Amino acid sequence: MLSTQATSSSRSIDGDVFRIDGGGAVLLGGRCSDCGTVTFPLQGSCPRCSGGTTVTVDLPNFGTLWSYTVQAFRPKRPFLGPEEFVPFGVGYIDLGSVIVEARLTVNDPDQLEIGDSMTLTTVINHCDTDGSEVLTYAFGPSSHEETK
Ligand SMILES: [Zn+2]
Repeated sequence: MLSTQATSSSRSIDGDVFRIDGGGAVLLGGRCSDCGTVTFPLQGSCPRCSGGTTVTVDLPNFGTLWSYTVQAFRPKRPFLGPEEFVPFGVGYIDLGSVIVEARLTVNDPDQLEIGDSMTLTTVINHCDTDGSEVLTYAFGPSSHEETK
């Protein structure tokens, strides 16, 4: 399995985008206080009404697969993944209030279908020089137990 439980020695690759909470990840979005538009990640002003007041909100940790692709070659620098590149899935997940782009825990298109139920998890992006795991967020297909 690619997904991993966060430990005390692991940390978020970007604390402004998601935080580690109780071994899981919580995506941080922004909500416009004027019109209620939700963005991910948080933006300084609302893309819909140009309002200047956005507040940080926790986003749902599950959604449905809206679109996906498989990254089959190593991205350009500053990509920090393993030297030995393994293709990974990238998808858009519809969380209801907003659609977010995220890595996927599976890279086999046969295991993915638009409309699938997806659950938020974390994957190791890279290991820091001090040995701590730097995690990024990812979505994986929900298990059948979770979707019932
Ligand atoms: Zn707005």
